[in-house]
Amino acid sequence: MSEHRHILVLGDQLNRSVEPLATALPAQTSVLMIESDSLARSLPHHKQKLVLVFSAMRHFARELEDLGFAVDYRKADGFEEGLRAYVEMNPGVSIEVMEPTDWGVEARLRTAIESSEGRLDVVPSGLWLTTKREFDVWAEGRTSLRQEYFYRESRKRLGWLMDGGEPVGGQWNYDNEIRKTPPADHVFPPPLEFEPDAITREVMNDVSSSYPDHFGTLDDFKWPVTRVQALAALDDFVENRLAAFGPYEDAIVEGEPVLYHSLLSVPLNLGLLHPLEVCERALEHAADAKNDVPLPSIEGFLRQVLGWREFMRHVYRTKMPELRAANGLEHTHPLPEAFWGAPTDMRCLAKAVDQLRATGHTYHIQRLMVLGNLALIARVDPRELNEWFLGCYVDALDWVVTPNVMGMSQFADLGSFTSKPYAASGNYVNRMSDHCTACVFDPKETVGQNACPLNSLYWDFIDHHRETWSQNHRMRLMVRNWERRDEGERAAILERAKQVRAALTDGSL
Ligand SMILES: Cc1cc2nc3c(=O)[nH]c(=O)nc-3n(C[C@H](O)[C@H](O)[C@H](O)COP(=O)(O)OP(=O)(O)OC[C@H]3O[C@@H](n4cnc5c(N)ncnc54)[C@H](O)[C@@H]3O)c2cc1C
Repeated sequence: MSEHRHILVLGDQLNRSVEPLATALPAQTSVLMIESDSLARSLPHHKQKLVLVFSAMRHFARELEDLGFAVDYRKADGFEEGLRAYVEMNPGVSIEVMEPTDWGVEARLRTAIESSEGRLDVVPSGLWLTTKREFDVWAEGRTSLRQEYFYRESRKRLGWLMDGGEPVGGQWNYDNEIRKTPPADHVFPPPLEFEPDAITREVMNDVSSSYPDHFGTLDDFKWPVTRVQALAALDDFVENRLAAFGPYEDAIVEGEPVLYHSLLSVPLNLGLLHPLEVCERALEHAADAKNDVPLPSIEGFLRQVLGWREFMRHVYRTKMPELRAANGLEHTHPLPEAFWGAPTDMRCLAKAVDQLRATGHTYHIQRLMVLGNLALIARVDPRELNEWFLGCYVDALDWVVTPNVMGMSQFADLGSFTSKPYAASGNYVNRMSDHCTACVFDPKETVGQNACPLNSLYWDFIDHHRETWSQNHRMRLMVRNWERRDEGERAAILERAKQVRAALTDGSL
């Protein structure tokens, strides 16, 4: 008779088709799941994020029970306390777990279990498209890691959108075709929404009463929390939004919180969807000519899931823990209160934060070019911003937030995997969004009370780091442009930037 197994399932591992659950026989397996109060309180996590994770965990536990597994679902003060109590109830137990993605978690699990004289068996995570070895072989000997080359290699390895050794269509990249803004009367298809069921409503009550002061509102909770719902969300995206995913990928439209984005980071990051099934479903749909999916749309989507998502996971794995502490540009200003919802006249910022409070989500370009960009050019401490992103988004996990914030958005690692900072003036926001027409600030002005704050902050950022940017071939030109301005003009811009930064800090902007 085979031995009884004990499997620990973490909140971002809700998947029965990968090890250790894949081979577990219900009658011979106990599953342990822990809701940790101290983890929930470690940051003012968005209420919808807590509901999402706890509800998805409770649904998953129920599904396992229905299949005949013995599930020990614990609500504990802390994760370690929950684990230790379980080991004490099962002396000498050997607990299997899928390798956690977040840095330091495995060590904490091991300490808690082994200090109670249990054993921890870690199996490699099966929730990815790229193994550690595949990434490490690709990265070996490279002086800089670039997503583009990793992505190309991954396409070749998997044979996706390939024509022999060449990309289908003859191009790897359709960046020039994704920078479109939709016409004003464009109608976006609404995404599928999931009404809270009894389990979710119970979690909503728990979260409202236990974490009343956390960020965000719960009124509009509509996220998928089960495998069935996650599959429906995938179908909905592929059938109704994939074809137009490419052209408007970088657009921002007021009052449209989704555009043609997939919203799939949520079920992917919980483990409810596997990236393989997501990519294969999208590829299969695009391969059928009658679905009329343009190449830039399917290529753009693949680039995100096979390229960026996998790349960031490995960047994180290979650069932690230094990445989390990085502050290469020595930015020390506090995060403006407007990020937490304090009123501001900066329309792009106010609208992004409103959307975030209501849904726990904003699309990529708002994260990078509105919120991230403002924090970067206002020289906000990147570590404070990282914690803010980690707390405020429903799809936030350390492995994905930290490289995106510290590396991609804040250049805090001085470009270990990006070639230049994503810094922009009001002109970019004006071009890519419809915010500026109704904003009190003028994107064409740099100085004066009505000038868009992003403009002076941008030049201040160039000026402040001009020695660093002079060494960067993609930023050098901006330093020259700055130095070409006359001294009086430069002084006035820097003065306006100083006022803007003070106003951001004291909440008067
Ligand atoms: C400052 C900042 C913070 C971010 N925080 C998070 C986060 O907390 N959680 C998160 O999953 N993503 C994060 N991202 C990446 C990206 O913005 C989100 O994955 C995306 O907006 C999720 O919405 P979507 O599912 O509709 O994405 P889509 O636009 O539909 O893209 C499809 C999928 O590609 C993947 N993807 C795309 N870009 C990235 C990327 N840069 N890194 C990793 N995966 C990517 C996601 O899984 C996403 O679901 C962040 C990016 C930045 C710049």
